[in-house]
Amino acid sequence: MDLSLILADLRELVECESPSSDLAAVARSAEVVARVGAARLGVEPERIVLDGVTHLRWRLGEGPSRVLVLGHHDTVWPLGSLATHPFSVEDSPEGAVLRGPGCFDMKAGLVMAFHAVAQLEDRDGITILVTGDEELGSPTSRGLIEDEARLAEAALVLEASADGGRLKTERKGVSLYDVRLVGRAAHAGLEPELGVNATVELAHQVLNVAALGRPDAGTTVTPTASGTGTTTNTVPAAGSFAVDVRVRSIAEQDRVDAAMRSLRPVLPGAEVEIHGGPNRPPLEAAASAALYERVGRLAVRLGQEVPGCAAVGGASDGNFTAGVGTPTLDGLGAVGGGAHAATEHVLVEELPGRTLLLAALVADLLADPFSATNAPQPSGAQRP
Ligand SMILES: [Zn+2]
Repeated sequence: MDLSLILADLRELVECESPSSDLAAVARSAEVVARVGAARLGVEPERIVLDGVTHLRWRLGEGPSRVLVLGHHDTVWPLGSLATHPFSVEDSPEGAVLRGPGCFDMKAGLVMAFHAVAQLEDRDGITILVTGDEELGSPTSRGLIEDEARLAEAALVLEASADGGRLKTERKGVSLYDVRLVGRAAHAGLEPELGVNATVELAHQVLNVAALGRPDAGTTVTPTASGTGTTTNTVPAAGSFAVDVRVRSIAEQDRVDAAMRSLRPVLPGAEVEIHGGPNRPPLEAAASAALYERVGRLAVRLGQEVPGCAAVGGASDGNFTAGVGTPTLDGLGAVGGGAHAATEHVLVEELPGRTLLLAALVADLLADPFSATNAPQPSGAQRP
């Protein structure tokens, strides 16, 4: 494991800025990632351009794809960020700290993936997918990610780790709704009885929706932005409110969805329309349990401290791979902090060890695939 080469590769990636919304910048960055990856792996990637967004895919070996190694090369940093946040490596009391736009989320993860796989003699069955629009919610790459996940026995996501290097074993799913109320306008002074009041209907429905949360199960259902009516002296004819739903399980996502769709108007003559629905499925703890256990065994074998695990609210492409039923472990990338913030950094001394751990995990999955899916799942777990 050559740390100076890891740092040189990471510098190349960080110094090619890649804000998700700038397609030309993302295309330039894809070429840099392709060059660095090809240098380590000895194979050129396929360039997959979807609606102008450049994604890269390496299929290694001749056999079917079995292990998906997943990352993204876009960042939230706008062009010009290097001027104020240049690539740097500086000593600190915690050891060497590396900085630069997107270093932690998640260019270091990409470099770790290339160096980990480059270490392996047997690479048959490994697919490395590097997408270019994750920070936008993966509008063009979602189908590609799901298709690759369906082919694989396990998905390893190189997103940055949680605090202290913890792996991300659970991510909440997200549903978003727009509830529209239709009433009938009338003069509020002359003949309000002829109207159907959308504000009153909204009040009923907001309370119905707010009651759908189940905090004990980790389900939150939050009515957010709302509006009704036009003037102070008109019975409102229409209104709407948005609903943000976060869930830990698909069962809960389905329960809330069914309840939302069965909302019925309370006022005679009113109408309720439900728009939206599930946006990202949850990465359930059950999807990562066997892989996390495997990492623990491998860490012990390597003489490393076993990484902790964390349930996090934010979503990633790991939600999509878990959503199609593929065992998924996320947060396998760099140790550090400050994702999406001026404090973004990577702890340099953790890079070689985490890269070795990743290499060991990929090798172990190729050699012994069955326990990724056959290991006992926690009780109450369900596979979609
Ligand atoms: Zn990321």
